Amino acid sequence: MTNQLTISVAAGKGGTGKTLFATSLAVALNKQWPGAVQLLDCDVEEPNADILLHPTFTAQEPVYIKVPEVDKSVCIYCGKCAEACQFAAIAVIREAVLTFPELCAGCGSCSYVCPVDAITEVNRQVGVVDTGKTPEGIQFVQGRVNVGDQRATPCTKAVREHLAANLINILDAPPGTACPMQETIEDTDYCVLVTEPTPFGLENLKESIATCKRMAVPYGVVINRDGIGDEGVAQYCQQEGVEILLRIPQQREVAEAYSRGETLAHGFDEWVGPLQQLYEHISSVTVH
Ligand code: SF4
Ligand code: SF4
Repeated sequence: MTNQLTISVAAGKGGTGKTLFATSLAVALNKQWPGAVQLLDCDVEEPNADILLHPTFTAQEPVYIKVPEVDKSVCIYCGKCAEACQFAAIAVIREAVLTFPELCAGCGSCSYVCPVDAITEVNRQVGVVDTGKTPEGIQFVQGRVNVGDQRATPCTKAVREHLAANLINILDAPPGTACPMQETIEDTDYCVLVTEPTPFGLENLKESIATCKRMAVPYGVVINRDGIGDEGVAQYCQQEGVEILLRIPQQREVAEAYSRGETLAHGFDEWVGPLQQLYEHISSVTVH
């Protein structure tokens, strides 16, 4: 068995093939080391890795955050809680304190600053984490935030609590570079940035690279749908010394396999070796 790395897979926008790559890598590695791989779907607003890996879920746990509950008999309506809240989740209007739990991040600042201890923190369920296994034995963890809830990060954190030191962990990050993506890639051994070879893909990639740099997470690039656009991404990577780990060509057969719910490693034997080699390469360049 090789190093058990924790690899995050991210993309500047949705629809670039991030989940296809993450699930394909999981399947390819599980062929090499059966039972040693875990896929964690951290895209909690729109989890879809299950469509490609077909897990059977065996357990579900609720995800809670602490939201404020104000005791009106104690409150002096000083407004300090509202001033402290960065999320506009609590407001004081004359002799009324309004709370907006769906905006609350559960940070606890409001209760911390309240001078008269009028605030109690109470549990509010914001989502669930499902766990199970795929037919080929990949451990599978999926977070799902409640519909309409504004805060994905607590669910992402809850998914990450299932990281297993004795497994290869592959985290499918939410698209973009906002807090839930950062929460996903934080402290991972390596982040694979999936992009398309288009000007739009390049702009998103630059933002993703800047985020990885700022967070000191090593990274490399996978170009998906290679051949549809231009060489801008490749030229940029060459100029900046960014490694291109893999190019997945635009192929009708790949799109058809995806629409049948198959990964690259399910539908195409020729992709299994390159994906396994990609992992070996990341192992060799990663200090673990
Ligand atoms: S900080 Fe405390 S006392 Fe002041 S308005 Fe908020 S709940 Fe009331
Ligand atoms: S817990 Fe944090 S986010 Fe929620 S209302 Fe209080 S200050 Fe705002």
